[in-house]
Amino acid sequence: MGESQCSCKVGRVAERYDLIALDADVQDRHDAGASLRELATVVNKQMLRTAVERAGGDASTLVSSEQGVDALFDVLNGGEETTETERVRVKTRLEQAGVDIETVTDDWISHATIKNHLNDCLSVDTSREPSITESDAINTVEWARARSENVVAETIQRLQNAGLLEIDAPATSVTVRITCEDCGRSYSVRDLLDAEGCACMDDEN
Ligand SMILES: [Zn+2]
Ligand SMILES: [Zn+2]
Repeated sequence: MGESQCSCKVGRVAERYDLIALDADVQDRHDAGASLRELATVVNKQMLRTAVERAGGDASTLVSSEQGVDALFDVLNGGEETTETERVRVKTRLEQAGVDIETVTDDWISHATIKNHLNDCLSVDTSREPSITESDAINTVEWARARSENVVAETIQRLQNAGLLEIDAPATSVTVRITCEDCGRSYSVRDLLDAEGCACMDDEN
């Protein structure tokens, strides 16, 4: 679908914040098992990022990294470890940097809004049980792995374009390993699932 141009709140904010690939992204993440709450958070963070980028200057130094936006979002969203004082302080700093943060937080969408958008505008069924299956998990991990691989490969390409790096045939690979910190054994997700847990759990029984 891509450019649904629907008139629901999600469609309106997508247009206002230039979130061009929003529908495809939300649909991919939904297929990969993300919850409605996670989807709403992803969209809301993208709005925050756009608002900050548009303000430029001082604002962008507040969020010069991915973690910057995540951290700001958590504070503004009133995460459990956030005090009201901290929230007000961050809001004030953003306002001083030229971000109309009241408008951004008013524009934030709820998980019910993203659900309606998926159901009514994109014809995506969200009624499935939120429980996870092995194949959901494998798909989600593979999706994240492939995405990381692409981001890294693109970054290497950009370094080459910028003349900061010289390599004829770079091949980028990202491998996902899960290590048990109790015993130090390390597994692929598939092997860990097949073993139904770390081998050290058997030792204890
Ligand atoms: Zn919509
Ligand atoms: Zn272990």
